[in-house]
Amino acid sequence: MNTKNLFKHLPSVDAILNAISSEKIVANLPRPLVRDLVNDFLNLCREEIRSQIITNGEQLKLENLKPKIMAYIRAHSRPHFRRVINGTGVVIHTNLGRSILAESAIEAVVHACRHYSNLEFSLKTGKRGSRYSHVEELLCRLTGAEAGLVVNNNASAVLIILDTLAKGKEVIVSRGQLVEIGGSFRIPEVMAKSGAILREVGATNRTHLRDYEKAIGPETAALLKVHTSNYRIIGFHKEVQLKELVALGQKYGLPVLEDMGSGNLFDFSASGYSFMHEPTVQQVIKAGVSVVSFSGDKLLGGPQAGIILGQKEVIDKIKKNPMNRAVRIDKMTLAALEATLRLYLDMDLAREKIPTVNMITLSEQELKQKARRLKNRLARRLKDHLELKLIPNHSRVGGGAFPEQDLPTTLVAIRPRQMSIEDLKNRLLHTEPPLVGRLEDDYFCLDPRTIALSEYNLVCEAIEQAVVGG
Ligand SMILES: *Cc1c(COP(=O)(O)O)cnc(C)c1O
Repeated sequence: MNTKNLFKHLPSVDAILNAISSEKIVANLPRPLVRDLVNDFLNLCREEIRSQIITNGEQLKLENLKPKIMAYIRAHSRPHFRRVINGTGVVIHTNLGRSILAESAIEAVVHACRHYSNLEFSLKTGKRGSRYSHVEELLCRLTGAEAGLVVNNNASAVLIILDTLAKGKEVIVSRGQLVEIGGSFRIPEVMAKSGAILREVGATNRTHLRDYEKAIGPETAALLKVHTSNYRIIGFHKEVQLKELVALGQKYGLPVLEDMGSGNLFDFSASGYSFMHEPTVQQVIKAGVSVVSFSGDKLLGGPQAGIILGQKEVIDKIKKNPMNRAVRIDKMTLAALEATLRLYLDMDLAREKIPTVNMITLSEQELKQKARRLKNRLARRLKDHLELKLIPNHSRVGGGAFPEQDLPTTLVAIRPRQMSIEDLKNRLLHTEPPLVGRLEDDYFCLDPRTIALSEYNLVCEAIEQAVVGG
């Protein structure tokens, strides 16, 4: 049959719409979208006729096309922003949405969305209230800070702190702390945007207290310490301790600011993770810092937010900065943040209920057991298709916390019998849901640290889709 004739065999849009109208997925989609998708599908068929992939009229019969049309609609009508299973073992995975929320935080978000609220309304006076009031007291109770406010994220927190306290003046920073966090957050550039003037001191690997002191002059507005979140200087290296910096600030009447980056309330080093010794927010406040800021969705395990804590006088100035309105936190975030912070009133509860803290503190024993269970499930279902074994390895905290810190784990190592591990990895990006793992030692590996037991079925399904099809 020649090509021209084949075009005539294509069913009409209306015939197709009619044939698929009773399918559940179609009934749940906007009609104009379905029509567009059917048109797109028919255009693809025309392409395939032209390039002789489709060569006979039989292939174009409606009943033969229908499964393909349905698959096309299914694949192209899914929301773009979707759930993914994180098998990488990186707990705060920047590309996979950082922290996932505690159940109570999720419920608080739903509640805040579904109903009106006292977002900016005082139930004491019946008049206008402050949106910060919902979390300020709680933050102060948990950290010992005098005052605080929350903004959209930590980048905006740093920006508004510098803009408020140091516009047109100098801020002294160690050369070892001029970090780039990724994306476009670089301390020198954020500083430039805020209108503060960067005064670098010391060397990349070593900065002494006297370096800071020598740089202090009439133009100095503040001393800034930045957490070197995503790298670690080892070897011949010195950083000035916050306490020393605070003493220096007091001597010259200068505020000491700290960008903590991740910011943890949970003391990992005091909970059997002695190698994870980064100061907690409580310790930073206690050391006498004027203002500290950190993210809500890194180690804290809450929603994206920038938390600013410190001395009341300084916080009050920041609250009055008109920039505040541009970086303000929304009500869903506020609801999730309050619920997350409430869990920290009891550290055992925080560890149990906040997924980020929970996953980081899983024991080697628990992880080995989780790995074994996942391997057994996969073996039961797919042993003809997969070679499986357990290998000891490491997870990472991620999100710029505890860089280079290896957390011991057990990986489920998978090698498909009929395809390469790269093929498996790529196919798993298109399964429902997509599953992201990592390649180690010629195996595709899943780290049980970041996969919930309740996701094991989905993991098996995704791998089955990838290796068997369907
Ligand atoms: C992550 C990080 C930031 C940026 O915080 P966001 O919440 O992503 O805006 C700033 N400073 C440091 C040191 C960080 O680690």
